[in-house]
Amino acid sequence: TEFRLSDFEKLRVLGHGNGGTVYRVRHRRSAAVYALKVVHADPSLRRQAYREIDILRRATDSDHVVCIHSVVHTPTGDVALLLEHMDGGSLDALLRRRGSRPFPESALASIARQALLGLAELHYRQIVHRDIKPANLLVNSAGVIKIADFGVGKVLRRSLDPCDSYVGTCAYMSPERFDPASHGGDYDPYAADVWSLGLAVLELHRGHFPLLPEGAQPDWAALMVAICLGETIGAVAEGAASCEFRGFIECCLQKESGKRWSVAELLGHPFVARADRAESEQALRELVRENSAES
Ligand code: ATP
Ligand code: MG
Repeated sequence: TEFRLSDFEKLRVLGHGNGGTVYRVRHRRSAAVYALKVVHADPSLRRQAYREIDILRRATDSDHVVCIHSVVHTPTGDVALLLEHMDGGSLDALLRRRGSRPFPESALASIARQALLGLAELHYRQIVHRDIKPANLLVNSAGVIKIADFGVGKVLRRSLDPCDSYVGTCAYMSPERFDPASHGGDYDPYAADVWSLGLAVLELHRGHFPLLPEGAQPDWAALMVAICLGETIGAVAEGAASCEFRGFIECCLQKESGKRWSVAELLGHPFVARADRAESEQALRELVRENSAES
């Protein structure tokens, strides 16, 4: 369907990103609610928007990737992506609404499982996300997790097509992406998504970014030292955690990408596979309800 911007009523701002603003909007005629990501008419941002649209359309039948309904062109040259509205918002906003109180492991088992299913769907289509972090994982009140924000995603031509270097948020970048030796792009891009997911899940478990002291201002040098030289696994052991959770994070945060578990392997990890599915889904729905984004 062709839409115009004037077909929608802006309800409120859902989030700001580098390239634009995401609004909650209502289609005037049908009263259906959507998220509208408006990207400004700057040439490089437009290119990024088209890349995102291309990827979202390739992944359109994925249960754990945010759904794109349409693209709306505005008179001023902005590009707007009409997305399914995820009424629980992003996981980083959910954490903030909880006053940074850690998520229970039961909810994290569901989050990890669904995010892994989303990555499996993407990786199967040779798409790498490259910017997995709590702000780009969305949830709804049904307790469904979907991956969003493909501004720096990439469709690989061959299964191990090298990736170019600095894209994504550096805080969640895996050690090999800092490695000068792999600057030709010689790293496994799928394994890099796994690292970022492990770090995101650990952050939700701890309540703050796990590789820096709580409240520390992230700066490039401190991050690089923490990621490449720090004892990432040691950071896991600090808090109270079950051995399944600890094991799962260790498998994601292996510094050597070759030792890191693949998405398929992680879906079989006891933390995800042996968790009581109904109970963990219920825990996630409760978490969303208790910290509602709508109020
Ligand atoms: P950045 O690159 O800085 O991460 P961005 O400009 O690429 O941001 P998104 O990550 O797609 O934009 O969206 C920014 C924020 O808007 C998200 O973190 C989330 O809070 C909110 N948001 C985006 N899409 C949706 C959606 N479909 N439903 C609900 N909220 C959304
Ligand atoms: Mg984002």
